[in-house]
Amino acid sequence: MTNSMHFGTEAIWGGETELFSEGAIGVPVYQSVAFGYDDMEQWFNVALGREPGHIYSRNTNPTLKVLEDKIRTLDGAEAATSFATGMAAISNTLFAMLHPGDRVVAIKDTYGGTNKIFIEFLPKMGVEVTLCDTTDFDQIEAEVARGCKLLYLESPTNPTLKVMDITRLAKAAHQIGALVVVDNTFATPVNQRPLALGADLVVYSATKYLNGHSDAMGGLVSGRQDLIQEIYHYREITGATLSAQSAYMILRGMKTLELRIQRHNENAMRVAEFLSGHPNVDKVFYPGLPDHPGHDIARRQMDGFGGMLSFSLKGGFDKVVRVLEALRYAHKAASLGSVGTLAGPPKVTSHVELTEAERAAAGIPEGMIRYSVGIENAEDLIADLDQALRQSF
Ligand SMILES: *Cc1c(COP(=O)(O)O)cnc(C)c1O
Repeated sequence: MTNSMHFGTEAIWGGETELFSEGAIGVPVYQSVAFGYDDMEQWFNVALGREPGHIYSRNTNPTLKVLEDKIRTLDGAEAATSFATGMAAISNTLFAMLHPGDRVVAIKDTYGGTNKIFIEFLPKMGVEVTLCDTTDFDQIEAEVARGCKLLYLESPTNPTLKVMDITRLAKAAHQIGALVVVDNTFATPVNQRPLALGADLVVYSATKYLNGHSDAMGGLVSGRQDLIQEIYHYREITGATLSAQSAYMILRGMKTLELRIQRHNENAMRVAEFLSGHPNVDKVFYPGLPDHPGHDIARRQMDGFGGMLSFSLKGGFDKVVRVLEALRYAHKAASLGSVGTLAGPPKVTSHVELTEAERAAAGIPEGMIRYSVGIENAEDLIADLDQALRQSF
């Protein structure tokens, strides 16, 4: 795929420029554990990596290869590989890159599962972990300057939508030869391309916007060829391989990624503006709002502000329960990034393991609702929120 193609075209054609077997124009789901050869020489050549081809689906599979080529194209990356879930992509990337004695600098607001890798698993492996305040870029730079193997970022974050200056922090990391990894799940390559901002690797939960329909799980990593090769090798041996069926569903979802994200962006902006003016709402967390602390950075480094927002209610958790129960067009479920709106309280979902004081320290009010704005009609979503807020107060 050449660089002259626009995103919407690449989303359709990336990885799919040749016809598949029998001339299929849809990507076949290669539901096969192994790949057979009548020509022994060819088999051995493929096995030894001297010829392209597939041997065994824990390692490679033709359906997965199309998906990997598609994200590689959309991210403008040298290479990409895939995983069974987003957490498999993140944990395998960290485990492949970090060794005993290494130091990693990350932020306090990473996704809950990622945070567990940092506080529970990496220290056991002899990796020193330093977690910084997410938007204290001076502190992050100072910790990076003390020396580290890897800087791990996520932007925007969950659930307070903090925005990190990827360009500035990547520069600081590269000055000391550290690798930069960015979780781009919330933004997707439509709204943000971390490799162009200086990252070495981008990780995704494909379960969210990339698939977009809440019906398949997966993870992807794209970036520098030599690093992807190491991460792929870790995965082919440890085995968190994506299934062909899920790969197919994710790559079908990705064909409409640009359209969906444009609508998510528009809807979220309208919902955020509506909620900002609502008498029962205390605060709205959305980087598209001019008073959001990360708004200027987001405008610089993103092409859209995304479909995720949170808001806190005037009143405590009892109001959260009432509003959630009154919402008609929102699945009350612990996921995000789907065509359908999803809503839930961070207090009992993503941040249930924190104490009230720890949530307060992380800037997460007890009365907060995280709202993943779907691609429904914005007026219907706003009317739904309005009736839910009215009847709950
Ligand atoms: C959901 C999510 C993950 C984990 O992905 P899974 O597919 O659930 O394993 C990682 N990072 C972010 C930002 C997420 O939202």
